[in-house]
This record gives sequence, C-alpha cells and structure tokens, in this order.
Amino acid sequence: MSAPKVISETKREVKHNPPPPVTHTRKHYWLAESSEELYRSIVLSSGVFPVYISKKAEQRIRNHALNHGDDGIEVMGFLLGEVFEHMGTKYTVVRDVATTTLEASEVSVKFDKGNMGELFDQLDGSGFDYMIVGWYHSHPGHSCFMSPTDIRTQKSMFSEGYHCAIVVDPLKSEIEAYTLDGDGYKPIPFTVYWEEYEDSYGKLYKKKRRKG
Ligand SMILES: [Zn+2]
Repeated sequence: MSAPKVISETKREVKHNPPPPVTHTRKHYWLAESSEELYRSIVLSSGVFPVYISKKAEQRIRNHALNHGDDGIEVMGFLLGEVFEHMGTKYTVVRDVATTTLEASEVSVKFDKGNMGELFDQLDGSGFDYMIVGWYHSHPGHSCFMSPTDIRTQKSMFSEGYHCAIVVDPLKSEIEAYTLDGDGYKPIPFTVYWEEYEDSYGKLYKKKRRKG
C-alpha cells in the first residue's frame, strides 16, 4: 500500500468551508458534565466548534482505548484530518486516526519511531491528503487531564493553533479535548459528526469515500 501524502500546514492553504451541520453532529456520550454547558452554548448560538471528530475516528479512538483498558495500558495515536475556516473561525476536522506499535506501560506511552512505516501503511491511499491535526491517548482509570509529560509532548509536536489533544479514560467513560494555553492547557469544545450528509454537503466529503 502506498503511503498517502502528509502535508505540512505551511504548504496548505486553509480552505473556507462550512462545518458539518448541527443536524449531523452530536455530543460525545462520554463528554464530562463539566463540559456540557460550553457544548450547549455553542449549539444554541449556532457557533463553530474548534474540533469536529468523525464518528469513525471517535469509534476507533474509543475501541483502541477500551481494548487495552482492562490491562491498564495507555494507548496513543495520531489524529488525521484537515483545517478549515468558516466566517473567520478556524476549525479542525478529525477524519481518521492512525497508530502503531507502542512502547506502552501503565505510566507512559510513546510512539516507536522505528514503526512509522507501519503507521503510514494504515492510511489508505484513496487520494485524501491527510494532515496530522493532533494526537490522542488514554488514561485508563485516571480521568482526563494533561500531565506535565503530555504538555511537553504537545509543545514539542503539536504546538500549532489547530492541534488538539484528545484524552480518553475507557474505564471511567470520559473524554476531553485540549489545546495549549500559555504554559499550560485548556479544554476545548468538540463535537462528533457522522458522514451520511456527504451527498448534500458537496464534493469535499465525497473525496474520502472508499471504494467498495
Ligand atoms: Zn496523559
């Protein structure tokens, strides 16, 4: 399988495009109660969420974390997608995820650099140009937050404004998205969209449809 192109932000123009419509988005089942008010305020004001995660990507993140939750093992992966702008607001669309063999333990997890080829083999070569828009990892049983190590990872690898970090706790059924905020981090609202609106939404979302 040929590796898809992963294009850096500097080479890519941010396209103007409306986000997935509110009729095709919903709150993540695991969203913490403390984040619900912010979520509702964006929906009620017809605002743009900073992050839209496809149902497929959401399921893959959740299942990856759940598959190793009982072992207490942290899992990790890249978020793949695009950055768009609508009415002067930039937002990130997470279409899919990719991960690889991990050097995982109960306290830390990191990508094995020797296996990046395996990671890219997971990306299909359907003509979609993926961009890495962030990362996800799990905190089995520890709730969602960014540890000092997580913040360092974010600063060194995911420091662009559109980069996000998704943290999921498969044992407590919690999920949050974060971004850097000064020396620390802050939660950012996100929503889950599903893709059945492709036809009414135009060419853009048809592009990633797989054959068969
Ligand atoms: Zn962490």
